[in-house]
Amino acid sequence: MNETVPAPLPRIAMAGLSLEASTYSPAITTAADLHPRRGTDVLDRYEFLRPGTELRGAATWFPVLQGRGVPGGPVPLDDYLALKAEILAGLAAAGPLDGMILDLHGAMSVLGMDDAEGDLAVAVREVVGPDVIISTGMDLHGNVSWRLAEALDLLTCYRMAPHEDALDTKERAVRNLLQRLAMPGRPRPLKAWIPIPVLLPGEKTSTRIEPAKSLYAMVPEVEAQDGVLDAAIWIGYAWADEPRNMAVVMVTGDDEATIVAGAERIASAFWERRHEFSFVAPTGTLEECLDSAMASAARPYFISDSGDNPTAGGAGDVTWSLAELLKREEFASGETTGIYASIPDPAAVEACWQAGVGADVDLLVGAIVDAGPSGPVRLRGRVEHLHEGDPDALREVVVRAGGLAVLLTEVRKPYHLEVDFTRNGLDPRGTDVVIVKIGYLEPELFEMSSDWMLALTPGGVDQDLPRLGHHRITRPMYPFNPAMATPDLHARLVPAANAVASVEA
Ligand SMILES: [Zn+2]
Repeated sequence: MNETVPAPLPRIAMAGLSLEASTYSPAITTAADLHPRRGTDVLDRYEFLRPGTELRGAATWFPVLQGRGVPGGPVPLDDYLALKAEILAGLAAAGPLDGMILDLHGAMSVLGMDDAEGDLAVAVREVVGPDVIISTGMDLHGNVSWRLAEALDLLTCYRMAPHEDALDTKERAVRNLLQRLAMPGRPRPLKAWIPIPVLLPGEKTSTRIEPAKSLYAMVPEVEAQDGVLDAAIWIGYAWADEPRNMAVVMVTGDDEATIVAGAERIASAFWERRHEFSFVAPTGTLEECLDSAMASAARPYFISDSGDNPTAGGAGDVTWSLAELLKREEFASGETTGIYASIPDPAAVEACWQAGVGADVDLLVGAIVDAGPSGPVRLRGRVEHLHEGDPDALREVVVRAGGLAVLLTEVRKPYHLEVDFTRNGLDPRGTDVVIVKIGYLEPELFEMSSDWMLALTPGGVDQDLPRLGHHRITRPMYPFNPAMATPDLHARLVPAANAVASVEA
């Protein structure tokens, strides 16, 4: 009887930078804003990689550095280069590797640079060498340039917007990698890549509604075919102005004809249905949305204040909508109750903290980063609640002005969960109108709302794309060139990484 020697565990490194950054936001995202984690803290971010899990035990892990920031403005070049250098040094120090997870969002804008993720991926590839299999699980609002597709082996992305499958996608990227590493000879998967010249905001491409619902339903169908490992559709990121910003379809696997046919089938369907993409909820000016909310019996009635949505990259402190709300007699008189979330302003928060609960305050709030059309807004009211300890907002204050409760934060913070309100002593379910800086409603807010509208307000992530003025995106591009001819939607096979050098030469 032969003694079996257990195969050594694959050596897998993990690193990455995850950010969605609007080049139309005056904010910047520093290296510190990306909250870089190092060493095993990197692994602990993912539930499926915590100590004792199957996947943690399936490899010898070399976690290097993972940065992740709240969506915002672009990263200064030096901040990016410092993080990149640390990642590359950590990878070099890890020694020979079998695989790598490069965890990316795909829409990180870096000042003075195009295609930041492509730049990082190429640099990582140069350090780890051509034989290491690199896998990524991205946000579907990320961008996949040819360069990025070339430098990596396994690319997949979320299949749901809102991103209820975010963690599943990260896990799939790990499982796809482990599966490849377990195959005899570790063959590189073939990659079919199709850029689709369509650039749309996330608020028109929710997978809860058509046509994205049907298009994303094609993903598992294509993936289920023999010879296919993964299929993915990237919507791309609309609030940056680079040649890479557009939709992309990729199918990876081992059967060339099948992955090409699958990718082309999805890409054609996407193109054919481009006119059907529309906002996920009724839209209007803020005034129209408020008029509808006041006239409606549905309570609570939610309004998305979408132009300065911090989860898409807005600065978060544009005050235009708050100024409009404070003018409404229904709120001023207290006849209608409302919640407004939120305005970051550390000085105003400090003033409320000093004044204490129950004190009357007279504040100028917001417009520190993004002055917007209205500048700082005068907010007179009573400090109703103080809270400290939210990891994003730090300190939070509720100031009540008539029927309207206004949330002020020390640091920009998205309000996505019921607990974000209840920990501040607010009861959104018992409130008439809840106005949140957000695009489509996140699941808990959607579930809570009796009705909702999306207000097309000004800010760094204005939903009215043509009024932003893109100059550098690839043209023609739908809907910027609405009458454009049908583009070439044939799949291009992306060479494996070890061929990158010869292709570039
Ligand atoms: Zn996204």
